[in-house]
Amino acid sequence: MHTGSSLSSLGFGEDVAHAFFHPIIGASLPSHSTHCIKISVVGAGNVGMAIAQTILTQDLANEIALVDAKAEKLRGEMLDLQHAAAFLPRVTISSGVDFAITAGSDLVIITAGARRVAGETKLDLLQRNLVVFKKIIPEVTKHSPEAILLVVSNPVDVLTYVAWKLSGFPPNRVIGSGTNLDSSRFRFLLADHLDVNAQDVQAYMVGEHGNSSVALWSSISVGGMPVLSSLTDKHIPFEQSVLEDMRQAVVGSAEEVIGLKGYTSWAIGYSVASLAWSLLRDQRRIHPVSLLARGFYGISDDREVFLSLPAQLGHSGVLGVASVQLTEEEERRLRMSADTLWEIQQKLEI
Ligand code: NAD
Repeated sequence: MHTGSSLSSLGFGEDVAHAFFHPIIGASLPSHSTHCIKISVVGAGNVGMAIAQTILTQDLANEIALVDAKAEKLRGEMLDLQHAAAFLPRVTISSGVDFAITAGSDLVIITAGARRVAGETKLDLLQRNLVVFKKIIPEVTKHSPEAILLVVSNPVDVLTYVAWKLSGFPPNRVIGSGTNLDSSRFRFLLADHLDVNAQDVQAYMVGEHGNSSVALWSSISVGGMPVLSSLTDKHIPFEQSVLEDMRQAVVGSAEEVIGLKGYTSWAIGYSVASLAWSLLRDQRRIHPVSLLARGFYGISDDREVFLSLPAQLGHSGVLGVASVQLTEEEERRLRMSADTLWEIQQKLEI
């Protein structure tokens, strides 16, 4: 196990800190901070490290623990982050191949597993990553029974279902990063097209993080103005094929980046860090994330399927699912996405 460097590892006794600062007379100081936020990142590859470094810049966590199966690479990543201490908010960074390092986490982010290579679908990855999850999830839950699990590894929807089943956690505490990233890509493309700021574009992709994702065109707005109905009211024509092309561009984004640089990292780093912030700072913001979707938008009550819906996130995880008005076609596509994921889940042995 590697931990953050301590004074004693440098040959100083712990008392050395008291040589510089003395408590004021009459002070009553707790030996440790009473409220520490701890985040663990399991999988210190491209995605895990992009998430860790984005969270570090946010001043969100007091402690970040990194776990990976490759001990040397892991220690290198930990030291590299620790060496930025002079430029960052104060955070204890630790790492280890043993999951004991994650004990007492508020949030455990799981990015471990094989990653998709160019040409491979996310669903092809499933069997390989299922084996990894059977090792990881019992360890995580043993050491942090009260944590929120945030799954990023792909195929993220099915693996979030797997994490829920293996953990025994209530469904509000098992979340997949889902289409939070797809929705950002969607907002970027729309903003580019309309020449506005992406932060002013409200637009959701829902359903599977993958080929069957659904773009909710009917509810897109810019600065509170509904886009499609405004175009219709002003008799500005638009082709349905343009809309589908944009959805396809979102779906193909990851493939394009993987083809060019080998993996994706920065956007997923920001996407997951934004989820961590909403959860641990109880922001009650709406994010499209993968959650137990049975009973919502016409998905049958007996289908234990995880897919993305716009959800309010806070301290307890998923606080609720937003009732967005969908068209019949959008709802039909969402149910098809649920069917696709349900069929895959049926083939799993967990
Ligand atoms: P990577 O290969 O760089 O990193 C994966 C890490 O997991 C490796 O360091 C590996 O050693 C570690 N690992 C494997 N098995 C482990 C185990 N049993 N215990 C601990 N660590 C283990 O891959 P990456 O590019 O970082 O991608 C990670 C995952 O994130 C992939 O599944 C990828 O498809 C997924 N991803 C998801 C999204 C999304 O939007 N949901 C976006 C990008 C990537």
